[in-house]
Order: sequence, then structure tokens, then C-alpha cells
Amino acid sequence: MSVVRIRGLVRRFTKKGVLDGIDLDIGAGEFVALLGRSGSGKSTLLRALADLDHEAEGSGDLIVPERLSVVFQDARLLPWKRVLDNVILGLDGAHARQRGLEALAEVELDGRERSWPYELSGGEQQRVALARSLVRRPELLLADEPFGALDALTRIRMHVLLRRLSATHNPAVLLVTHDVDEAIELADRVVVLDQGRIVADIRVALPPPGAARRERFAALQHEL
Ligand code: ADP
Ligand code: MG
Repeated sequence: MSVVRIRGLVRRFTKKGVLDGIDLDIGAGEFVALLGRSGSGKSTLLRALADLDHEAEGSGDLIVPERLSVVFQDARLLPWKRVLDNVILGLDGAHARQRGLEALAEVELDGRERSWPYELSGGEQQRVALARSLVRRPELLLADEPFGALDALTRIRMHVLLRRLSATHNPAVLLVTHDVDEAIELADRVVVLDQGRIVADIRVALPPPGAARRERFAALQHEL
């Protein structure tokens, strides 16, 4: 069953075409990496899915779930709200606080609920952003180079964390990245975008993340 269904998606800014007829389906719980060089249209596609592209012209059909969360390269926390209040922003109900605390524990930030965003490192802020996304129990998680601003060691830690979270919550994930290693490490399926078109869509039954998966993917590199 598809969670995302895209047909003939075209987007342009003034005269410049950016997405040139995209067809893509993403299944429930599927982890897809959208790989492509800078300027290939990755963010434009993600913004179209998140309904954040009102400045663009275009056509095509999009079906996305209502429960959808987005994570960007910068955590976009509200600086005047404490960590927990950032996580549960806009949620109401008696259980919001409890769920927020659970989400913070899942991203290994227990005890930091009363901290201010400026007291956290970049990686910690990004973990708050992940907690804020997951507390909404999304069917679809859209992530636009979420680890692009982090150092290499923090990024590896975030990979491990995201893998665990996606296994626990099992949303469909569309992770935008220009980093082949990141795509290899995380995704079940790699979709390659070039000049606004999908030029490869590699779906393989991969071994679990780790050395065996990297080896298997190395053999597939010529397809990328
Ligand atoms: P990527 O995320 O793959 O690096 P983008 O989707 O951000 O690529 O951009 C693709 C192209 O669309 C680029 O040439 C960029 O300059 C252009 N573009 C993106 N957003 C806008 C916008 N709001 N206005 C005008 N041009 C844009
Ligand atoms: Mg981008």
C-alpha cells in the first residue's frame, strides 16, 4: 500500500523548470533516500510534498498522508520555548507532556526537557527536532539533509538513532541527501534525482545496516 503517490509532478520558478515530471510511490514504512547533486531539485520535491511550495508554479498529482512531519537541516526550534515545549508545540490533550518526555528519552535527551535551545549543541537540537517530529506519530517523515550541518562523528550517531527510531515507529521516510554513504547506510531504496528527473530507482533486499550492507551496495554503485 502506498503512503505517497506522485504523478507527473512539474514545478518551475519563473521560467526555470526544476521538477520535470516526477512519478514516485512510497510504501508504508519504506525508507527511501532521495539522492542527487546540489540543485537537482531534491528540496523542491520535498517542499511540494510538505505543501510548502506556494511560490512555485506547476502541475501534477500528489497524495500524501495527513500525518506528516518535516525535519530540516537546521532544527528550527523556537528560542523562547524550552525543549519540552518545542517538542509538544501545538499538541494538546492530557498526554502531550508525557508523550513529549517519552520522545525526548527516545532521542537520548532525558532530563533536558527544561533546557533552552541555545544550551544544546547542534546535534542535540537536531535530536529535539526528531523528537518533535515523532511525537506526532507521522505516517510520513520528510527530512531534508537533516544531518548536513553536523560533524562526521555526530552524524554517525544520528544515523544509528534514526535507524532505531524508524524501526520503532515505522513511518515511511523520505530522506533527502547528497551523501551516497548516508543513503547506503540508511535506506531500503535509493531514488536518484538529476535535473528534475528520476534517473535511477534502486530497490534491493539489503542485509541489515552495517558492513554486509555496505559491501552489497558497493556492488550496486555502478547503477548510481
Ligand atoms: P537541491 O535541494 O537538490 O539542492 P533545490 O530543489 O533546492 O535543489 O533547487 C533546484 C533548483 O531550483 C535550483 O536551481 C534552485 O536555484 C531553484 N530554486 C529552488 N527554490 C527556488 C525558489 N524559491 N525560487 C527560485 N528558484 C528556486
Ligand atoms: Mg536542497
